Amino acid sequence: MLDLTIEKATPEQLKSKPDETNLGFGSIFTDHMFVMHYDVNKGWYDAKICRYQNFSLDPAAMALHYGQAIFEGLKAYRGKDNQIYLFRPQDNLRRMNISASRMCMPTIDPDDVLNALETLVEIEQDWVPGVNGASLYIRPTMIASEAGLGVRPATEYIFFIILSPVGAYYPEGFNPVKIFVTDTYVRAVPGGVGNAKTAGNYAASIMAAVEAQKQGFTQVLWLDAVERKYIEEVGTMNIFFAIGDEVITPPLSGSILPGITRDSVMTLVKEWGLKVVERPITIDEVFAAGKNGSLKEVFGTGTAAVISPVGSLYYKGETCSVNNGKTGNLAQRLFDELQSMQYGASSDPFGWVEQITPGTAY
Ligand SMILES: *Cc1c(COP(=O)(O)O)cnc(C)c1O
Repeated sequence: MLDLTIEKATPEQLKSKPDETNLGFGSIFTDHMFVMHYDVNKGWYDAKICRYQNFSLDPAAMALHYGQAIFEGLKAYRGKDNQIYLFRPQDNLRRMNISASRMCMPTIDPDDVLNALETLVEIEQDWVPGVNGASLYIRPTMIASEAGLGVRPATEYIFFIILSPVGAYYPEGFNPVKIFVTDTYVRAVPGGVGNAKTAGNYAASIMAAVEAQKQGFTQVLWLDAVERKYIEEVGTMNIFFAIGDEVITPPLSGSILPGITRDSVMTLVKEWGLKVVERPITIDEVFAAGKNGSLKEVFGTGTAAVISPVGSLYYKGETCSVNNGKTGNLAQRLFDELQSMQYGASSDPFGWVEQITPGTAY
């Protein structure tokens, strides 16, 4: 068990709460955070919940130079019953350990960290927004903190969890997005780190996103790095195609991030009696399905948006319109069902929902 110290802010130190109807994403942070340190000889130590504050980092901290940095993203939701719920949090912490192993970083004890995470969320429960569709975004992060310029695994790390109240992704309802299919840039390569939630992947993706946005597109669709024809992901989301009577998603080949929303969607779609297939799918197949009328829906999946319907794809000068630019029935049904589970409003046959039990933290 982690020896967890809690240093609560004094009432005067507490921040004022933001306007819940205008939260945006990831720019407001709560009063407290969780931090612990790692030393290769000691293991994890000094686990504490304390005031949200700056770190003191050596300018030679290895995360800053060589990118040993990984993160996770999940949310706490306030139900209509005023209870607070997490969705599959153990899966995020397990995935974090997979990212850690790939980056030669130390693993964490998922049970200990989940306990600390739940304690932190309980302390910050007044920060979980009550507005429909809003939530408290949870960002577990690990960075290499050892000072050194040699390229090798660091011997010291900081693990922390910060919390940010975020608004509804679709305050005015779904808005299917216009996607630019890039054959110039790639997100990840076989043998690389595409299946790890590691900082450099996102730095590498920004240029393609900026260029797509300049041309009026919302996001980039990534093709495989070798043949530039197999579809991988869309922006920072996994992707699904409803073609004919199949729901198709690319297989976890190693260059794709294994999304928890992706897994939840596959489980629900199967449960509903539809055919889910994980198989390689080319951009040409999607455009051909668009032309012959068998392409019904395209949508991205991820914690931030849950489901993001795609209205059109642009590739090599051609546009493939999807469902006349409207949200499809499957995307809508998946969004409604997942949201309803996440807010604790529908039954939980898969054991995905974790209620934060008030009064256990301190
Ligand atoms: C986090 C992430 C996803 C979605 O994962 P979820 O667990 O569903 O939130 C998909 N692709 C990339 C590149 C990601 O970073």
